[in-house]
This record gives sequence, structure tokens and C-alpha cells, in this order.
Amino acid sequence: MALSEAPASGAKTPGARKIEKKIEMVSATRGVSDEVRRQIDERTFEDWSPEKLLGWAIDRFHPRLALSASFGAPEGMALLHMMHALEPGSRVFVLDTGRMHEATYDLIDRVRDRYDKSVEVVFPNAADVEEMVRSKGANLFYESLENRKSCCFVRKVEPMRRYLRDLDAYVSGLRRDQNANRSATAKVALDSSHGGIVKINPLADWTRDQVWGYIEAHDVPVNRLHKAGYPSVGCAPCTRAVPHGGDERDGRWWWENDDTKECGLHVTEEQDQGSGI
Ligand code: SF4
Repeated sequence: MALSEAPASGAKTPGARKIEKKIEMVSATRGVSDEVRRQIDERTFEDWSPEKLLGWAIDRFHPRLALSASFGAPEGMALLHMMHALEPGSRVFVLDTGRMHEATYDLIDRVRDRYDKSVEVVFPNAADVEEMVRSKGANLFYESLENRKSCCFVRKVEPMRRYLRDLDAYVSGLRRDQNANRSATAKVALDSSHGGIVKINPLADWTRDQVWGYIEAHDVPVNRLHKAGYPSVGCAPCTRAVPHGGDERDGRWWWENDDTKECGLHVTEEQDQGSGI
């Protein structure tokens, strides 16, 4: 650069201004603001209704916000309906493990038709699945807890981590009374297992009856296997019907104890170091 073109002391070149602008844009779309951190610390959201919380989340994070729905639980479908009513362009994703029930695929298609919505289907890494199945067999999960967690890791946890890297926040249908592991679920938290992004649980304080009341009142589409006795529908080989009156998580990984029944999607980093995954 000729001396005559050099910026005066303290002035910024066009290149430096461009880089600063880029950094500003990245900072504005990633990470969590101090205000949100303060609201989480002060538990500001705990009394908010699901609709109020979702409205806040959409205003603040859309389109870097998505609903995580299994299409096998009524909670996710209720939230999908609420989010769609607030913002028709709201995003929803499902982890297609490759072992799901036909009824779950049917529900994904029904949602596409009913809401004219593109469901973001996330697949596991094909090479990882191949290696796992070749070395441990297709139904490895029945043989040990370690194998079951390996399968959940390859088919659910890794794809979820990969997908969430591009978001600032996500919504989940966790409820506190689903099992012991979920009893302390906050309405809004920072998810240390997924880079510290914001995790929003609008139904944390709802009961199962409240969820079904909402589904019926709004004619929300749900997985048809609920009518066949499946309170929650996961992968086909790992889910079964539960006799009427049984605990809603009894049909998942029924050969395990209640305190091991997590796939790793909702464990904290601390749990992750121990028995979480
Ligand atoms: Fe594998 Fe069963 Fe976990 Fe599905 S629920 S990922 S089939 S272990």
C-alpha cells in the first residue's frame, strides 16, 4: 500500500471493518446473551405457559431454533402444533434411527400434509452404523447396557449433536414426572452436552393428562401406536406396549432398570462422564 493510501492513525481499513462486521454478525447469531443467562439463573420462566415460552423463544431465536420431536410421544406433537400456530415457518427435526416403527414414518407424512411443513429428518452416520452392526450384530442392544448405549449413541446422540451445532436453541417435550432422571427439569436451561445452547422445555410442569387434553382439544395428529397400548413409541426393537395403568416409560428398554432408561439425548455432561451414555 502506498503511504498516501494508508489510513490515518486510529482509522480502520475497509478490510478490517468487513472482518469486524462479520464478527458482530456471528456474535449476534450464536451464543447466549447475558440477559438470557440472567433470566435462567433467576428462574424467570418457571411460571410461564408453554405458549408464552414458545413465543419468547421464537422471537428470540427463530430460525436458529427447532423442535426436537420423536414423533412417538404426544408431547412433541402438542409442541409442534403450538409452535406452528405461533410461527408457520417454525422448524422441527426428527432423528431417524433406521429402526423406527412404520407408524412413526406414517405420522411424519401426516404432519407434512396437515401443516404443509418440511420435517427435517436427521440420519446417523452410515459408516458408524455399518461398523457397529458388522462388529456387534444388528440387535446388539439386548446383550448389554454398554451395547444398548453404543447403539443409542450411534443412531441418536451423534446425529443430534451434529444437527444442534447449527442452532442457538431447541425445544424438547420433557416432563418432570416422566421418570426420576427428569424430575429436576427446568423450563429453560443451558445444555452443556450440546455446546451450551439453550434448551427449552415448555411442558416441564405438565402432566400426561394435560398433554392429552391439549391433543384432543386441538385434534393434533399423534402416533397410532398410542391406541395400541404404547405410551411412548421409540425404536421398534426397544419399545413395547404397556398394560393399562403401567408407568409410561415401562415400555422402553423394559429389560433395564428405571434409572438407566435414557438414550443419552437428555443427559448432562456430568452424567455423560458416568453412566449417561
Ligand atoms: Fe438402538 Fe434401541 Fe437405542 Fe434405537 S432405542 S438407537 S434401536 S438401542
